[in-house]
Amino acid sequence: SAKATGGSRHCFYSPAMKEDAQLKLMLRRDLQKAIEQDQLFLMFQPKVQCVGGALKVVGVEALVRWQHPQKGLVSPAEFIPAAEENGQIADIDRWVMAQVLNQLGQWYRRHEEATLPVSVNVSASLFSLDGFVEGMAELLSRTAVPAWLIELEVTEHVAMENYRHTLETMKKLKEMGVGLAIDDFGTGHSNLAYLRDFPVDVLKIDIAFVKDVHADSKKQALVRAMISMARSLSLKVIAEGVETEAERAFLESVECTRYQGYLFYRPMLTKDIDKLFAAGEEYTGRVN
Ligand code: C2E
Ligand code: MG
Ligand code: MG
Ligand code: MG
Repeated sequence: SAKATGGSRHCFYSPAMKEDAQLKLMLRRDLQKAIEQDQLFLMFQPKVQCVGGALKVVGVEALVRWQHPQKGLVSPAEFIPAAEENGQIADIDRWVMAQVLNQLGQWYRRHEEATLPVSVNVSASLFSLDGFVEGMAELLSRTAVPAWLIELEVTEHVAMENYRHTLETMKKLKEMGVGLAIDDFGTGHSNLAYLRDFPVDVLKIDIAFVKDVHADSKKQALVRAMISMARSLSLKVIAEGVETEAERAFLESVECTRYQGYLFYRPMLTKDIDKLFAAGEEYTGRVN
């Protein structure tokens, strides 16, 4: 067990890493190898919508995983923040984007209209890179993937880092037909005026507001406010990290009918998403 080996559970590089220069160096070297030697892979977590008591999958989110040769599976919660700090995140995100588009190309040729949109998390370093939009356009055309099958998830933090550049980039992406979502919504301490300017389609309510929302009147007030604001701006809302039926029922009672969370699906392997697309409309669950 982790205790027997003296380590904390599945935590190889942090939090000690924040101070430890040697650990930082080790991670940087290991991540470089990970990118070069195909140790990264993707999982996909479905998003569902509840319509008339029936659940329908409406899209999937690509989530990167690292199969470390010695350490096993390393969580992105551990290596993404480190990679953001040391600048390797752009390489990782570029790899993810290329991988997703190749995969989408295959799915689209195989399943055509039954293929659902894939969202990709994009870091500030990639999003703010000159030529990011051109790169996206190039990838889309090379893989013959229609732009509406891609949605980019950016956090408020990413969006606010360079307001003008974000605005321009988002407008171009929107023109191309690429979907845009604000991830971890509500955690960014931002001036919400940005929502008026940025052409985003979706707000993803952060798990922090969803966890036990049915039993917490303050969270309920915040979730209600987010939903009514989204509605008045004609944005879609999806709740992240829905784990229990009680949470889902509260969300439905305030007319949030799109969910992502372990209650419905965990992140899944590519081959299982392939089955999901192959089953098309038949691949639905039922609540109540
Ligand atoms: P995120 O984009 O907000 O993704 C949601 C995270 O919540 C995922 O963790 C997902 O597995 C987890 N999750 C989903 N449903 C539930 C639930 O019901 N309960 C709980 N407790 N968690 C749930 P994951 O895959 O570990 O990713 C963590 C974060 O790492 C992501 O948060 C995202 O910020 C970042 N990340 C993942 N893949 C990429 C990537 O390719 N590029 C970049 N830049 N960041 C990524
Ligand atoms: Mg996300
Ligand atoms: Mg999130
Ligand atoms: Mg998050």
